[in-house]
Amino acid sequence: MSDSAKRIEIVIAGGNYAGFNALHHLYTVLLAAPSPANVHITLVDRRDGFVHFIGITRGLTEPEFGEKLWVPYSETPWISHPQITVKQATVSQITATAVHLADGSTLSFDYLIIALGQSRFAPIGVASTTHQEFVAELAEAHENIKKADNVVVVGGGAVGIEMAADVKADFPSKQVSLVHSRALPIPGPFKDEFRKEVVRILEEDIGVNVVLGDRTLNQLPQSTQPGMAETTSTAFVNTPVQLTSGKTLPADWAIFCLGTQSKLPLISLDASVITPNGIAVKPTLQVDHEELGHIFAVGDICARDEVKLAGVAMYGAYIAAHNISRSVLGVGKYEESEPNPSKLLLLMGKDHWAFQMGDEIWDKERTRQYVHDDMGLEVCVAGLSLRATPAHTPLET
Ligand SMILES: Cc1cc2nc3c(=O)[nH]c(=O)nc-3n(C[C@H](O)[C@H](O)[C@H](O)COP(=O)(O)OP(=O)(O)OC[C@H]3O[C@@H](n4cnc5c(N)ncnc54)[C@H](O)[C@@H]3O)c2cc1C
Repeated sequence: MSDSAKRIEIVIAGGNYAGFNALHHLYTVLLAAPSPANVHITLVDRRDGFVHFIGITRGLTEPEFGEKLWVPYSETPWISHPQITVKQATVSQITATAVHLADGSTLSFDYLIIALGQSRFAPIGVASTTHQEFVAELAEAHENIKKADNVVVVGGGAVGIEMAADVKADFPSKQVSLVHSRALPIPGPFKDEFRKEVVRILEEDIGVNVVLGDRTLNQLPQSTQPGMAETTSTAFVNTPVQLTSGKTLPADWAIFCLGTQSKLPLISLDASVITPNGIAVKPTLQVDHEELGHIFAVGDICARDEVKLAGVAMYGAYIAAHNISRSVLGVGKYEESEPNPSKLLLLMGKDHWAFQMGDEIWDKERTRQYVHDDMGLEVCVAGLSLRATPAHTPLET
């Protein structure tokens, strides 16, 4: 084969909201075409399926629902395309030329999309690598929650709030406490009025004991693998939670939801693109370095000044997939990612929610249109074409 006919290798590291959507759009533009482009796409993920993280707190309190949150890649018809490889493996290091895997193999690439997200400790971050393990992981956590009279959730970010609310809503007779170190919960660009309304809903409507301005003294385990907090659990049985105020909260089940850990220990790119918020990117979502234009970073791992959300991750992946397609096909100029407005929808049990969109706090009725019984699972399954084959979508010129 001559050099001009050389197959172009595209690698996607991470296959969830961002990575899977990148694969989806590369497929619709490059491979679903009547004459598929001369590319080969490899998606690598440590799991054998997509995980709908948005529903994970309810999945722990309602495991029959939780089992549905994992959609095995084997259920996606179009990924059997001969120019796609889905590889289940752990990424140990990414350089400017290769993705190194824990099994000792490497994937070299012409284009790379980094979509490894952020790390959260298990069980929220999901330690499992197969659906079968996931079902067992949920069952174990659920048993511990069911047996507990006293539950303590530490960390009043979105995840801790949803966790405490889901436990109390599903098990009203349990004593559920939510501890947060600051005077109000929910870090990020949100209004105090929104924060106060969330505290009111938790306390008055749901019955959670909200403890503010107090910190835990408990020592937490460190992640054993750098960048892989999901392999370490921060949920414990029979572990009282000690606070700086001197109080001790009895806890038959305690879970620490203290934010995310970075995936950056897995990234060996020029130091100038590694920032505290993730990998620096241009508006085209190319890594922000003149020699790294063939590498894109999308979703939670990229350092855009935005609230890190699944929808933002999917949108960024769409832009990156289009830009790689434009480069491969020689069509038009690269597209740029529009700024995404700050927003936060908190789902607190099945009957309560709160939503801030930009600077506006929406009321319950207006927000209802975004609240789904399955916590958006089917919307994401459809949006990512996880169970249907999408049609060819030519690029606009
Ligand atoms: C409880 C909870 C509730 C949430 N609620 C909402 C919400 O209501 N709305 C919203 O928009 N967002 C919500 N989010 C945030 C949302 O889940 C993230 O923004 C989203 O997951 C980011 O997508 P991503 O593809 O960038 O990363 P991820 O979804 O984290 O995907 C990263 C992928 O990379 C893989 N990976 C990581 N490391 C490795 C490795 N070393 N080797 C191989 N594979 C690896 C992982 O297995 C995973 O598949 C919530 C998150 C949680 C935890």
